[in-house]
Amino acid sequence: MMKPIVAIVGKPNVGKSTLFNRLVGDRVAIVEDTPGVTRDRIIADAEWQNHHFTLVDTGGIELKTNNTIKRQMRAQAEVAIDMADLILMIVDGREGMTAADEDVAGMLRRNSKKVVLAVNKLDSVKLESSLYEFYNLGLGDPIPISAEQGLGLGDLLDVVIEWTESIYNEDQEEDDSLKIAVVGKPNAGKSTLVNRLIGEERMIVSDIPGTTRDAIDTKVEHDGVEYTFIDTAGLRKKKKIYDDVERYSIIRAIAAIDRADVVLMLVDASAGITEQDAKIAGIAHNRFIPTIFLVNKWDAIEKDEKTVQKMTKDVRNTLSFMTYAPMLFISAKTGRRVDQIYKTIAYVVAQSEKRIPTSKFNEALVDFVAMKEPPSQNGRRLKIYYGSQTGIKPPTFVIFVNDGALMHFSYKRYLENKINETFDFDGTPFRLFIRDRK
Ligand code: GDP
Ligand code: GDP
Repeated sequence: MMKPIVAIVGKPNVGKSTLFNRLVGDRVAIVEDTPGVTRDRIIADAEWQNHHFTLVDTGGIELKTNNTIKRQMRAQAEVAIDMADLILMIVDGREGMTAADEDVAGMLRRNSKKVVLAVNKLDSVKLESSLYEFYNLGLGDPIPISAEQGLGLGDLLDVVIEWTESIYNEDQEEDDSLKIAVVGKPNAGKSTLVNRLIGEERMIVSDIPGTTRDAIDTKVEHDGVEYTFIDTAGLRKKKKIYDDVERYSIIRAIAAIDRADVVLMLVDASAGITEQDAKIAGIAHNRFIPTIFLVNKWDAIEKDEKTVQKMTKDVRNTLSFMTYAPMLFISAKTGRRVDQIYKTIAYVVAQSEKRIPTSKFNEALVDFVAMKEPPSQNGRRLKIYYGSQTGIKPPTFVIFVNDGALMHFSYKRYLENKINETFDFDGTPFRLFIRDRK
């Protein structure tokens, strides 16, 4: 499902990061339980009244042109225009309207992206009169908020949701093609691969201006199946304005992965695997999208009999939370093993749609419990009653117990491994929930 991207822009010190932290709490988009992966406080999943969106604090993106506030803000606004579905401009109600605000508002007005204007630091009602001058920015009704006091945030989010929903409805993809996101660091070979994958196929439509984010989609047919490749390489031409290309490519990856059925994650063999690769892969993992690791540029590195083994180990170690993901060693440039990609896509899709009959699942549960006794605490032992598969994409299981608090994570991990082993969910993430039987 497509999740809108909302980007916060505004001068330094207007309260962008305060607002960001208020709105997202502990949720961050990057996988957190991975050693070596730092938490990222500028991109996060946010939710309001069951509407989900991705929030980005552009103030946290380091930009090349940071010599003057005005230039910095222009660059920030440009990033926001590029990647966001909705721009949330924040101004400081205590300071009043400034030339920099007017400048950015002008830029935003000349663009077609929807902008919501919030006037921050209005900590009490008597301050609300300072709201009115901001009508002059020409960005519609300013919304009074206090990020610090948590005031007006509900009203602000109502407006945000109203707009993102309308954008979402416009963009509803009604076709049944398989959506394939091709992600990876800049220069990993994404464009080369997409060109290679679509090169030999019958192109149905090309350069579909897919979404409001100017992503470029390409639809092809292969062996009777329609595929839409979501290009995240796009916007490279603008790369020069972002010093922080890494952050930027992660935001692009999020936008693509949110629409995808399968993720092709490119790793540049000549550069080796890095923390940034783990971050990008972790986004797909957190969203339960089947992912295929493609170690690219295999033609470009010197190989001996140990190279495959070593690279496999490196990738598996760095991406240890995704043991299920198949790995292929390819060359997008020469086409080596690229033909195996379609087969592997079909495999992971089939795996993610697999269903296990309830009777079989419960027979297996009895065995799992017999092989390893459930944990106990203060003399009370966990009892496992029964379970069933409640969904696909990803396969999702629920197990009912006497008291979920008795479930130790190591025992849950044991059950997950057993389910995986017994029913073979290789190729797809899956979920296990533990519930108390009422
Ligand atoms: P950013 O540079 O735009 O990310 O701004 P910050 O979020 O770092 O906030 C800058 C300063 O403004 C900090 O000292 C905040 O505590 C303060 N601030 C943020 N929101 C409010 C607010 O609603 N009311 C008041 N009075 N101060 C705020
Ligand atoms: P993107 O930024 O991920 O879209 O990467 P590109 O597709 O633009 O590729 C970046 C550079 O790597 C280009 O010079 C490509 O020709 C080169 N490249 C891509 N795939 C391969 C490959 O399999 N082998 C080699 N040797 N070079 C490749």
